[in-house]
Amino acid sequence: MKRILILQTGGTIAMQIRRESNGEMVNTQSDSLLRYIPELSQIADIECRELFFKDSSDMGTGDWITIIEAIRDSYNQYDGFVVLHGTDTLAYTASAVSFAFKNLNKPIIFTGSQVPMSVIRSDAQRNLINAIQMATLPFNEVAVCFSDKIFRANRTTKMSIGEFTAFNSPNFPPLAEIGLDINIKYSLPPSAQQMECFPVFSEDVIVLRLFPGMRPKKFLPLLENGTRCVIISGFGSGNFPVSGEYNLIPFIEKCVEKGIFVVMASQALFDSVDLEKYSSGRIARDLGVISARDMTTEAALTKMMYLLGRFKNPHQIRDRYIRPLRGEMSAN
Ligand code: ASP
Repeated sequence: MKRILILQTGGTIAMQIRRESNGEMVNTQSDSLLRYIPELSQIADIECRELFFKDSSDMGTGDWITIIEAIRDSYNQYDGFVVLHGTDTLAYTASAVSFAFKNLNKPIIFTGSQVPMSVIRSDAQRNLINAIQMATLPFNEVAVCFSDKIFRANRTTKMSIGEFTAFNSPNFPPLAEIGLDINIKYSLPPSAQQMECFPVFSEDVIVLRLFPGMRPKKFLPLLENGTRCVIISGFGSGNFPVSGEYNLIPFIEKCVEKGIFVVMASQALFDSVDLEKYSSGRIARDLGVISARDMTTEAALTKMMYLLGRFKNPHQIRDRYIRPLRGEMSAN
């Protein structure tokens, strides 16, 4: 029987309604999560470990590292890993974890739920069962399991606050759909090389979402204090204002002058940034702005945090940023 390690980090899936305190939600232990579904022992030999209990909005790079190191340190003892996580920042953590593991040859499956396990009409049971089942299969990547679908972690984004189908991967099909059987349609190929783990992330990155009426001058102070990259969430195919008081070009030039990377992403979820299509994009390209192409903002951010954490040399960082490392962007 396959050995699976479940790592508990908190979120709604682990919440219980405490009756004596006016319906306040409290965290519960993951062992008791398994008590809700004793049949899980038929799927795998499961062990649970509580790493911490947090609302995922409170999580930062230190928590990502705790998760990564826990998996790394137990890597040889288990066939697969399931991480229980709050849905709010799940796509960020799962993306970050995907970059930290190179040549992964076991599944790391993230899941959570919209409704706590303790509530009768919860999606937690189904998500947990699916995630554990998925973690027993030969599968070489970090994935998100939610509402009968498996998504590539670094392609995933939270789409809904209220629906059970909370996640989607706008620019990549689901890796698997769970019906009567689990049909894996896509998976990164296994690597003949040893797994390597790099739990390193820089926090010197800023994501700036453009909006009509935004005066870039106001944001210049953000470039102080060690900022190493600005990810601009631009309009459409990567457009931004190029004239008048909203002109973003002087801001970009300031970044270039200071040696700060500028990445152009898009507020549109589907399709790819294209810096050739409009004149603003071409100006950006000529200034050295990097296109995030079809990466999610979560992947664009965590990939840069990882590369800045791992490398000092700007060429090494840029070189790796512009090509797919873990399936997070489509090939050109
Ligand atoms: N606020 C919760 C969290 O992300 C939401 C959830 O788990 O669905 O931790």
